[in-house]
Amino acid sequence: MKIKKVTNFLTISLLTAVTVVSLSVMGCKEQVKTDPKNPYGLDIINSLEAYSKTVEADSSNLLVDLEKHIPGVVLDIRYATENNFTGKKIYTAPKAWLRRDAADSLLKIQQILAQEGLGIKVFDAYRPYAGTLYFYEVYGDTTFVAAPWKGSIHNRGGAVDLTLINLATGEELAMPTPFDEFSEKASYHYKELPAEVLANRDKLLKVMTENGFTFYEYEWWHFNIKGRDKYSLMDISFEDLEKL
Ligand SMILES: [Zn+2]
Repeated sequence: MKIKKVTNFLTISLLTAVTVVSLSVMGCKEQVKTDPKNPYGLDIINSLEAYSKTVEADSSNLLVDLEKHIPGVVLDIRYATENNFTGKKIYTAPKAWLRRDAADSLLKIQQILAQEGLGIKVFDAYRPYAGTLYFYEVYGDTTFVAAPWKGSIHNRGGAVDLTLINLATGEELAMPTPFDEFSEKASYHYKELPAEVLANRDKLLKVMTENGFTFYEYEWWHFNIKGRDKYSLMDISFEDLEKL
C-alpha cells in the first residue's frame, strides 16, 4: 500500500513541541507550558506515521482524495485562495479529502444527483487543526467557526461543505446565501426565501441525509458523516498528505 511509504517523512513531525510539566522543588506548584499548535491539549494526529498507523488499524480512517474518487466532482476550495472570510490563503493546495465512508457516500450522492442532471461542488472537506485555531482567532463566534478547544468535524475528515450544481452548465443552484456567509440566512430556521431557493436547499438536505450524512442547522452547506466522532482530530498539512 502507498501508505507504507510515509515512514520516510517522519522527521518533521517529531519536531513538534510537547507539553512540559515541571514540578518545583518546593512542592506541588506546577508550571505548564503549552504547545502553540495544540494549546488545549487535544488528542491530535499530527504526523504521517501516526496517521498511517490509524489506517493500518482500521481502513475506514483512510482519507480519500475526492477528485480521484468521485468522477466529475467540482472543487472550489476557498481556503486555498484569498476568497474566504479570513482574506488569506490557508491551504497550500486546492484539495479535498474525506474519510473513506464519507467519500463513498458522496460518490453515491453524486451518482444519484447525476440522474437529474445535477452534481456537487465542494468548498471544503478535511481541514488541518491549525486552520481551526486560526479561524477562531479571526472570527470568535463558535456558531460559525468551530471551538478550538473541541476541534472541528472538518479536522476529523468527517465534514464537507458543498452545494449543488447544474452538470451541463456548471452553475451553482440558487441557495439562501453564498458559502460561508455568517448570517441568519444560512440557517435552516430561515424560511423567508424564494420557493426555488427553499426547494434547492431541501434537495441538498434530502440527498445528503438519506445517504449517510447529518446536517448542521446553522449552515446549509455543512454536513457531517454519521459516526464522525470515531475519527481522530488531525493536524497534517495538505502538503504532507500529498506525499502519500
Ligand atoms: Zn463546514
